[in-house]
Amino acid sequence: MRNPIPDLLDELRERCADDDGGEVLSTIPELAKADPDRFGIGLCTIDGTVYGTGDAEHRFSIQSISKPFAYALALADRGRDTVLEHVGVEPSGDSFNEISLEQSGRPRNPMINIGAITTHALIGHEGISRKQRDKRVQQGLSAFAGRKLDVDEEVFASEQSEASRNLALAYLVHAREKLDGEPHHAVEGYIRQCSLLVDVRDLAVMAMTLAAGGRNPVTGEQVVPTWVCTQVLSVMATCGMYDASGQWMSTVGIPAKSGVSGGVLGALPGQAGIGAFSPRLDEIGNSVRGVRAFEALSADLGLHLMHAPEVASHVLYGVVEPDADGDGLREVQLQGTMHFAAVEVALRELEEVPDGESFVLDLSRVASATDVGRRLLLEAVERMRADRREVRITDPHDILGG
Ligand code: GLU
Repeated sequence: MRNPIPDLLDELRERCADDDGGEVLSTIPELAKADPDRFGIGLCTIDGTVYGTGDAEHRFSIQSISKPFAYALALADRGRDTVLEHVGVEPSGDSFNEISLEQSGRPRNPMINIGAITTHALIGHEGISRKQRDKRVQQGLSAFAGRKLDVDEEVFASEQSEASRNLALAYLVHAREKLDGEPHHAVEGYIRQCSLLVDVRDLAVMAMTLAAGGRNPVTGEQVVPTWVCTQVLSVMATCGMYDASGQWMSTVGIPAKSGVSGGVLGALPGQAGIGAFSPRLDEIGNSVRGVRAFEALSADLGLHLMHAPEVASHVLYGVVEPDADGDGLREVQLQGTMHFAAVEVALRELEEVPDGESFVLDLSRVASATDVGRRLLLEAVERMRADRREVRITDPHDILGG
């Protein structure tokens, strides 16, 4: 095979597999039965190509990794304001099952249990029945994965029998009037949500859907609006890895969420969705090998979000000067993606066109533009035309929208 990526992933997995530190979760009886040596990694790209290595098709309950997706559904169904009235966006610095409430009674964020149970209760329209909400959650998470996800009834029953702590959290939020509906309904639905079965390939596609602005790269379905993904990824970046979130962001630099069954999901905006699974957890509750795999992926593939991309200075493909005898027009040729920083460079180049001189703006090498990039370019063209200059635009890919 010419593509080196599968070998690269196999090699990376092998390197991380020698770490047998950590312990399988013991507090949920059904999860305690997991084979501790399982280890798989999945990676999905923006065009829907999915790579897998190791136990890539082994299914496990999604657990807390369902939380960002439930948050996405609540935001899409009830709007940002309503969701924010009920659940905050600040890191808690506490364990996942702590009583992390703000003064107002609002749970601190949707990535810890108290906030996730409250978020679950907001999914669907107001007054929705418990059964209908379960269906909405199952269908919604399945749309993110691009295949129908099933509930592991044994994990569900096992967690239901040990639900006192989650019930206590739900009743506390209810007492502060921040929980929609009955506490035991919210907890039961939340536990069903946590019991959905996935493999690391599913996690990779789910992550890529978030990282691609809500459009599933495999099915093409727009699962949630783009603004929802921006909100969800922001909260994952600050609160996704239990109380190791700050450390994770500095070492790995990928918005992520982990769960107690041993899964880790990471979503790098515009680039990659990643899933990893291995059941042994560190003392904070994150998969030991999962964390190692993400550290290695981030370093080997240069995936740290805060690593500045080199784009802006490449925006100018070339400038063709007019002939000395006055024939021909000056041509400003742009390339790449027209986002704010790139367009800013281009605008300064346009500034160099002498007053009154006509010219050609060549966008044939431009791949795409953000709304801001498009607006700024159009505004510059309009101003130059007002300046009695002829501006011809070569725009075969319709970057400026007609
Ligand atoms: N269902 C688990 C619980 O509520 C999820 C915890 C987790 O994965 O962090 O305790």
